[in-house]
Amino acid sequence: MNRSGGEYRFKSRVVDLDIETASDGTRQIRGVMLASGEHIAADHVVLAVGHSARDTFQVLHDREVYIEAKPFSIGLRIEHPQSLIDAARFGSNAGNPLLGAADYKLVHHAANGRDVYSFCMCPGGTVVAAASEQGHVVTNGMSQYSRAERNANAAIVVGIRPSDYPGGPLAGIAFQRHWESAAFAAGGGTYAAPAQRVGDFLARVPSTTMGSVIPSYQPGVTTTDLSFCLPNYATIAIREALTVFGRQIPGFDSPDAVLTGVETRTSCPIRVKRDETFQSVNTKGLFPAGEGAGYAGGILSAGVDGIKVAEAVARSITMKMH
Ligand SMILES: Cc1cc2nc3c(=O)[nH]c(=O)nc-3n(C[C@H](O)[C@H](O)[C@H](O)COP(=O)(O)OP(=O)(O)OC[C@H]3O[C@@H](n4cnc5c(N)ncnc54)[C@H](O)[C@@H]3O)c2cc1C
Repeated sequence: MNRSGGEYRFKSRVVDLDIETASDGTRQIRGVMLASGEHIAADHVVLAVGHSARDTFQVLHDREVYIEAKPFSIGLRIEHPQSLIDAARFGSNAGNPLLGAADYKLVHHAANGRDVYSFCMCPGGTVVAAASEQGHVVTNGMSQYSRAERNANAAIVVGIRPSDYPGGPLAGIAFQRHWESAAFAAGGGTYAAPAQRVGDFLARVPSTTMGSVIPSYQPGVTTTDLSFCLPNYATIAIREALTVFGRQIPGFDSPDAVLTGVETRTSCPIRVKRDETFQSVNTKGLFPAGEGAGYAGGILSAGVDGIKVAEAVARSITMKMH
């Protein structure tokens, strides 16, 4: 219990929504059901479940809360020695402790109409496992505060749109699952991630060994051909972009740089659409928020969205009191 009377309920998974439908068809949230079987009554529910709450997205669909497919991005993680990025960015000042580890942001509009960009660049960081389901492999990246690990990494991702995965509001999740399973298989079915040297990726040949750049992914990588882990249009666009990025950051497309797959969780594949009062367009009292609602991407924007939603909840409660 906090000072304002709020209560934090850890280890309390929401498994269902209690929605009342009036005779005129209007819908009002009345509470949530927990996995323990407990019902928590509430006329205001903030839904901030993050972008990987696939079970909750299914519940929303089953309970006919309005959701729609939205664009997101998929791709691969790339790793270089941090010293290569520092030299390209800082020149003769590379290595100066006042500057720390260099970062980058890259964008390329590929000839096939796809936008390719660097995402979640992690200076002096590691590539991390981010799967949330059995039989899937998903990459992400992070830096410790020190940014002192040997490699720089970033996702190199391709924008995709609902027309790439037709089939209803949850089709983007099926699309993610398909490529995450492909990555699991390409990695050998052991949760090792599939990986390829950039030189081999560009030459369209499988890697059989790594070179001078040692992949940071744990529990390890399996050398392979990453073109099995992404749609063809994505591999074509990433190949083109890597060469262009190599002109902006000398060595970015060096043969021994490492690609690891597959990056599918850049943002949420659905949007839980809300109106100008921040409530679901067809379920009053339900306030979709943050990245899982499709209204944020990253820590800061999710936090700001949370503040906006909290203010909207306060306005809604105050209006009901008057
Ligand atoms: C490895 C990694 C590195 C990242 N690095 C960065 C970075 O450097 N900068 C950046 O801006 N972003 C980064 N991100 C992204 C960032 O973490 C997210 O954008 C942000 O956390 C989204 O906030 P959110 O509140 O919308 O959702 P989340 O932080 O995902 O929170 C959702 C919460 O809901 C809970 N939940 C889900 N389903 C249920 C349920 N049914 N019942 C009860 N609780 C439930 C979850 O357990 C979770 O606690 C990173 C993500 C990862 C995985």
